[in-house]
Amino acid sequence: MTRTTDCPARVPMQCRKKGAAPSGCEWTGPLSDRESHLNECPLSWVQCKWGCAKFQLRHLAEHEAECLDRVMQCSHCNDGIIFREMKRHLQQCAMAPTECPNGCGVRTRKSLLPQHDAQRPRKMVDCPFACHGCGRRAMRMDMPTHVEAAVGAHALLLSSSLQSSAEKTKADLAAKDDVITKLETSIAERDTALQAVMKRLAALRGCQQEAGSHRKSSRG
Ligand SMILES: [Zn+2]
Ligand SMILES: [Zn+2]
Ligand SMILES: [Zn+2]
Ligand SMILES: [Zn+2]
Ligand SMILES: [Zn+2]
Repeated sequence: MTRTTDCPARVPMQCRKKGAAPSGCEWTGPLSDRESHLNECPLSWVQCKWGCAKFQLRHLAEHEAECLDRVMQCSHCNDGIIFREMKRHLQQCAMAPTECPNGCGVRTRKSLLPQHDAQRPRKMVDCPFACHGCGRRAMRMDMPTHVEAAVGAHALLLSSSLQSSAEKTKADLAAKDDVITKLETSIAERDTALQAVMKRLAALRGCQQEAGSHRKSSRG
C-alpha cells in the first residue's frame, strides 16, 4: 500500500481538466505524467486539422470528418476542393459531365460542349460561299443539299466576286501609277529649280572673277 509520504511524483493525481462526471476525464496518474496526459485528454481543446476552429479532443475526429473546410478530391478532375465550395466547383468543373443545353440528350464534359455544339447537325450555319456573297443560313445537316442545289448561283457569285477583286486590283494599280507620276513631276520640278540655282551661282562666280581682274589691271 502506498503512503502519501512517499515521493510526491508518485502520488496518484487526477487530470487537471477532470470536469464533472459523467463526461469528465477519469485519468489518474503520477504528477510527472499529468502534463503529457493533456496531449491526449479528451477534454483538451485542439485545432481542427482543416483550420476552422478548436474542438475538444473527444469530438475532434467526428468534426474533422464533416468539417466544412475539409479538402476533398473532385471525382471528375481530381483537384483538391474545399467541401463548402464543392457544389459550385461541380457546376464549373471542366471535366464534369454536363447535359447538352440544346436538349439533344448528349452528356459530355463541360470542356467538350463547344466542340459538340459545333458538330450539332441542327446548328444553324452560314453557306460556305458566304464570303462570296451567298446569304443562305441553314441547319448543318441541310447545307450539303443547298450547296448541291445552288451550284449555278454559287458559280455566278464566285465569278462576280473574282471580277470585282480583279477590278479592285486594277484600281489599286492605277492609284499607285498616279502616285509615281506625281513623284516624277515633283522630281523634275526640283531638277529645274536646281539648274536655275546652279546657273545663278556660275554667273555670280563669273562676276567676281571679272571684278578681280579689273582691280589688278587698274593697279598695274
Ligand atoms: Zn484528462
Ligand atoms: Zn474544422
Ligand atoms: Zn472538378
Ligand atoms: Zn447536343
Ligand atoms: Zn450558298
